[in-house]
Amino acid sequence: MSRSRKPIAAANWKMNLLRADAERFCAALRAALPPEPAAEVLIFPTFTLLPFVARELAGWPVACGGQDLHPEARGAHTGDVSGAQLADAGAGWVLCGHSERRQNHRESSELVARKARAAREHGLMPLICVGETRDERHAGRTFEVLESQLAPVFADPPSDFELAYEPVWAIGTGEVATAEIAQEAHRHLREVLSRGLGTGRAASVRILYGGSVKPDNAAGLILQDDIDGFLVGGASLDSGPFLEIVRSAAGQ
Ligand code: PEP
Repeated sequence: MSRSRKPIAAANWKMNLLRADAERFCAALRAALPPEPAAEVLIFPTFTLLPFVARELAGWPVACGGQDLHPEARGAHTGDVSGAQLADAGAGWVLCGHSERRQNHRESSELVARKARAAREHGLMPLICVGETRDERHAGRTFEVLESQLAPVFADPPSDFELAYEPVWAIGTGEVATAEIAQEAHRHLREVLSRGLGTGRAASVRILYGGSVKPDNAAGLILQDDIDGFLVGGASLDSGPFLEIVRSAAGQ
């Protein structure tokens, strides 16, 4: 992989873990991480844990993020969280368009693009998630789906963002994309980014792979040229496997 892009290892806790779990996880990270890891380490806790995790890891080479945001800064949106509130809680990042949001909350690609733009307005780095379903892959529509998910982003690109390729059929299923399948999608995404943003900017966007990443498959995936790290769900709930994935992302 190109070392011009610093790899990322990101933990997406989804709707899991309580404060005692988070406390143990953070203590393990503090004990294990060198002062300047070769991979950027991100934790996306549940909203309720975000301020706690941000405090526990303050001063350590780990950043936190929200799992979603509302595109408005404030207002009558019961149950939602704004970018301003995430930043206030200690977040530096935010997931936009995770497939579970697209599926369970009917989020359109237009809304995801608005969220990414709103994130930048509050100083957050959006990690935009894209990926095809099993049916779409079997119908030969993978590239078309990825392009249509990104089209509204290119219509008015946020000043900065990173990308996660997460094939829906691989999320939480134990069925990881082979390194070749993942690299093919990542290479295509890089081409799509070049068309949308220009080659220079496209070369700097980090494209993470997500979908059943585990300690035993991470080392093979990170060798691919366009795989710049991982967004990890299940294997990030325990510090042991997650730290192994961090080491793989760092090429160790
Ligand atoms: C995710 O939800 O972002 C994810 C990739 O989950 P898992 O690693 O469990 O497949």
